[in-house]
Amino acid sequence: MTAQPALDRASAPPRDALSVLNHVFGLPGFRGAQEEIIRHVADGGNCLVLMPTGGGKSMCYQLPSLLRDGCGIVVSPLIALMRDQVAGLTEAGVNAAVLNSTLSYQEASEVERRLLAGDLDLLYVAPERLLTPRCLNLLGQAKIALFAIDEAHCVSQWGHDFRPEYIGLSALAERFPNVPRIALTATADAMTRKEIAERLQLVDAPEFVASFDRPNIRYEIVDKQNATTQLKNLIAERHPGDAGVVYCLSRAKVEDVAASLSDAGILALPYHAGLDASVRARNQDRFINEDGVVIVATIAFGMGIDKPDVRFVAHLDLPKSVEAYYQETGRAGRDGKPSTAWMAYGLSDIVQQRRMIDESTGSDAFKRVSIGKLDALVALAETVHCRRQRLLGYFGETQGSESCGNCDNCLTPPRIRDGKVLAQKLLSCVYRTGQRFGAMHLIDVLVGRLTERVKQFNHEQLSVFGIGRELNEKQWRAVLRQLVAMGHLRADSDAFGALKLTESARGVLKGETAVMLREQPEGARNRAIRGKSRRGELAQAADSKGAAANPTLHAALRAWRSEVARQRGVPAYVVLHDSTIDGIAAMRPDTLDDLRGIAGIGDKKLEHYGTELIRLVNRTEG
Ligand code: ADP
Ligand code: ZN
Repeated sequence: MTAQPALDRASAPPRDALSVLNHVFGLPGFRGAQEEIIRHVADGGNCLVLMPTGGGKSMCYQLPSLLRDGCGIVVSPLIALMRDQVAGLTEAGVNAAVLNSTLSYQEASEVERRLLAGDLDLLYVAPERLLTPRCLNLLGQAKIALFAIDEAHCVSQWGHDFRPEYIGLSALAERFPNVPRIALTATADAMTRKEIAERLQLVDAPEFVASFDRPNIRYEIVDKQNATTQLKNLIAERHPGDAGVVYCLSRAKVEDVAASLSDAGILALPYHAGLDASVRARNQDRFINEDGVVIVATIAFGMGIDKPDVRFVAHLDLPKSVEAYYQETGRAGRDGKPSTAWMAYGLSDIVQQRRMIDESTGSDAFKRVSIGKLDALVALAETVHCRRQRLLGYFGETQGSESCGNCDNCLTPPRIRDGKVLAQKLLSCVYRTGQRFGAMHLIDVLVGRLTERVKQFNHEQLSVFGIGRELNEKQWRAVLRQLVAMGHLRADSDAFGALKLTESARGVLKGETAVMLREQPEGARNRAIRGKSRRGELAQAADSKGAAANPTLHAALRAWRSEVARQRGVPAYVVLHDSTIDGIAAMRPDTLDDLRGIAGIGDKKLEHYGTELIRLVNRTEG
């Protein structure tokens, strides 16, 4: 990384929060509770901050570190994230550094020297490093502005990201009782929050809890036909050239899908635990640093990736739970620009996930909990109501009765129809064929197809043979999937996925239980979603205009950014965010003053790139 001139203290602007936000970060105003949090911490208070991914947590400790005397110490377990944040801060003229295992002895000594000399505003430290006697001693001799504990849910032994090193962080309160501690996380239920507060001794510390809504993310869950083809269409039609993450369950599928996307001319790279570590690291770096790379990955990918301009997250397989779905889709659109969370889902997904639970070695209690979590996600996939409301409702947040206007169900409400007779036909077919067959055969019988298998079992003689000719195979699949989701049918893992009736099926067969089915021809829906206005999105007007109004300038700015990023060895977004590029393309500033007004252009960026950007604008027509 190239060294940047230090923030010049002598000519530094007055140190109030808003002017630091304007001058250093180039941002016009605070978001949500940021201002309140920043004031609280700058005044020396402890607190716990809960914000969704992309909510703007970093600012809550970066800015107070600049306001207070001394250096802010940021504890983070994520090495890639530390590196990228330091690169971004350095670009903005902030004196920031990391202390972790990637540094040589000399490099680490230099960082220590700068800390003691009062030369650092922010220092990122891995928790295991922080807790060494050497490091604690070092901090004891330095002036510390605050401790920020990022990913604070890692202290929770009940959580999915427990890190034993985090437990030791309770030492901070004892060793540095007068230094404020701010704990931050994007995932914490009430129990975890309590645990964080106890472990970090955040006594009488306020909790700042932001809404978990991600309004710029459009949620879409579609019927799975040929998932890879559907994905290619999504990319071609709505996300050409965009960066995205595609999640698959198995390594083999990751390889297949990555190859298939590459064949279609999409820049796609695989990522899974079976790849050679160096290949994995290279693919991850390309995804972060280059423009518009699609990474196809197992869920091993994503933790600690701070890339703000991921435009879509696609699931080709069903995750395990709503929590996992929320966390994975949350990697889209951290920069607040319109983004897509898209999932293709079908009967086989439910069957597969159920089988994984049944075959796991967990206790019965664990399996029950897992099934409950899976059911909640399936219900989200099947709902005919607003997906956002359902998602937030799962996390205990109510959004009133307003529909969000930015999910597939809100944009093109599915038709609901009385499915009693269809359900009865299907359930009878399961019953008459002896509860020994999977979806394909059952549908063959219903539509009256004389296959070898049908003949082998004499199923053409049954009363149910051909009673379902009013629907085609695809429609029957949707009915079947919904009956499984409703719990009237169950896939038996012991019998190769044969479908069996459950207790509740009896009520349906007797006509006592109502069955409402959703219906949505997918092609029509995709067209409708594409055609919809952007209402309901929080996209800044300039966003889409930048590329649309001045496409040549937009492309030129992006090419310029790639080149600068390459020369400086930093990710493209560290040079300028997409929204800043869009802003410049839309506004075509021709003076430094006008350029200064665009979000993302702070003092240092103006100084470094201002003249060049203005020249680029003046040189480029359209
Ligand atoms: P988190 O850590 O909560 O996931 P970040 O701190 O990385 O989120 O912030 C997400 C994005 O929001 C970043 O691109 C950041 O520059 C931007 N951001 C943060 N605060 C503001 C603000 N007040 N105005 C505009 N953008 C902001
Ligand atoms: Zn909605």
